[in-house]
Amino acid sequence: MSNTIDPIPTYDVVVIGAGFAGIYLVHKLRDDLGLDVKVFERGAGIGGTWYWNRYPGARCDLESDSYSLSFNDEIEQEWNWTERYASQPEILRYVNFVADKLDVRGNIELNTTVTGAVFDEGTDTWTVTTDTGASARARYLVSATGILSVPSMPTFEGMDTFAGEIYHTGDWPHEGVDFTGKRVAVIGTGSSGIQSIPVIAEEAASVTVFQRTATFTVPAANRPMTENERKATKRSYKQLREQMRRSQVGVLLEPGIGNFADVDLRVVRGELERRWRGAGMSTSMVLSDNLRSIEANNYTSQFVRDKINEIVDDPAVAKMLEPHDYPIGTKRLPIDTNYYDTFNRDHVSLVSIRDTPIERFSPAGIVVDGREHEFDAIVLATGFDAATGALDRIQFEGVDGRLMKDEWAEGAKSYLGLASPGFPNFFTVTGPGSPAILTNVIGSIEHHVEWIADYISYLRAAGITRTEATPEATERWTTHVAELAAMTLYPTAASWYMGANVPGKPRVFLAYIGGLHNYRDRCEKIATDGYPGFTHDGGTGLAARAEAVAAEV
Ligand code: NAP
Repeated sequence: MSNTIDPIPTYDVVVIGAGFAGIYLVHKLRDDLGLDVKVFERGAGIGGTWYWNRYPGARCDLESDSYSLSFNDEIEQEWNWTERYASQPEILRYVNFVADKLDVRGNIELNTTVTGAVFDEGTDTWTVTTDTGASARARYLVSATGILSVPSMPTFEGMDTFAGEIYHTGDWPHEGVDFTGKRVAVIGTGSSGIQSIPVIAEEAASVTVFQRTATFTVPAANRPMTENERKATKRSYKQLREQMRRSQVGVLLEPGIGNFADVDLRVVRGELERRWRGAGMSTSMVLSDNLRSIEANNYTSQFVRDKINEIVDDPAVAKMLEPHDYPIGTKRLPIDTNYYDTFNRDHVSLVSIRDTPIERFSPAGIVVDGREHEFDAIVLATGFDAATGALDRIQFEGVDGRLMKDEWAEGAKSYLGLASPGFPNFFTVTGPGSPAILTNVIGSIEHHVEWIADYISYLRAAGITRTEATPEATERWTTHVAELAAMTLYPTAASWYMGANVPGKPRVFLAYIGGLHNYRDRCEKIATDGYPGFTHDGGTGLAARAEAVAAEV
């Protein structure tokens, strides 16, 4: 703490959230820049997404050696992943291992939810308030609140009358849940439902899945990692990481073999078959134009529908499980372990609520189409108020009393996903308009943290006390993000990428689709050019240079 007279503790930087982003921010800003950093974290522990999502079967959909931090050799070499796709408990252990290695716990205040932040134009500082009464002041405010951190809770009539237990996958009890002998309902068939349903079915007396939209999923082919694999990865980490940074999505997926119109469909079929047996997300990318051409996409989609019909014994159930409502890949493609097979089990059943939605909850269960289904427990796998949800819940008050939630009422607007006009000295890690949600999020986090740290270092060296994204640069970036999305099939799906899963949320595509590699280049050029698109106040010569460059761009 640098100020002992002010009744509000003062820091150089306040960070909101102690997931991967918050932890890395402490390390980068404190250890590399020598800044005084304070983190507020809502949870009783660190880890963000991996702290809250403890539902049965929770695991990563990217391979462990990709979904891990790259900036520290010691962490990279000492940590041993045990499975190809790490489970939630293992990732949470990893987060804690990283936090201990970097010795960041002293900077983090747990059990503290940030409720508001006000920018003071007199001092160019933010004052942050929390639900515990703790507050803090800082020149810079950085949100590291995560993309999928606010569970989306449906509001079914009679929910409070249900006599059994109701759980949300995104806020799972830490002590775990014993479903042995229980009749369990699961509502929702996104990644969380698809991962949890087969595992819940292992112990429950019965599982009834309520499906509104049938989902494409492909086999994870998860397995233990061998010691040889671990050694080989550790030897080649340097090259692997560099390739990931220079890739479209920050992870090494198998490339497409050509466009639909140009390739022999027998070859495509063979390749789909091969990838179905173990390529995870790359399965839907055999055709290079899968996300741009509906013909290509129909071919891939039909391949998965054929697989469903091969796997599922009851043709009526298979029919219900066949996805027809969106092109494959335009929602995050889940990777599963025994999802479709689970519907062959006698005690697992499927209820379509596509045309006959859930009418209400009753004390005994769930009523659909006039029929009451009885349960002991109901699992809501209904997703998240993604990307903007956590920011909307904090009262950010920028210049002239401007509120972020008003500014974003028609859809989030940001410059590079990192900053917004009217909110000086405030940066968002994995913010809307960055590529984060379409990438290996750890790669995006590392990029954003490093870019923000470099920028803060530049500002301090120049004596600039206040920076803000310009409305013009923000408008250009937001339009560019939307235009790129419109060139693909993504906007045709009612996905959380579009904000479509939360009633009343503006339908705006939330990510830059141009690729992590291109985004990195763009951000680097902006830094090299003296940060055009940002205003610079209170500075000296460097600031004037930045203004001049900005005027030219
Ligand atoms: P999701 O993909 O948004 O799926 C939510 C599910 O709940 C959908 O099937 C949705 O139906 C249904 N639903 C929502 N509200 C409903 C309502 N009122 N009535 C009936 N059904 C309702 O959420 P998620 O499964 O939690 O996954 C979100 C994201 O988290 C994923 O896309 C992924 O990025 C991430 N995730 C990753 C992993 C992993 O790494 N393996 C695991 C879990 C989650 P509709 O489709 O009809 O809206």
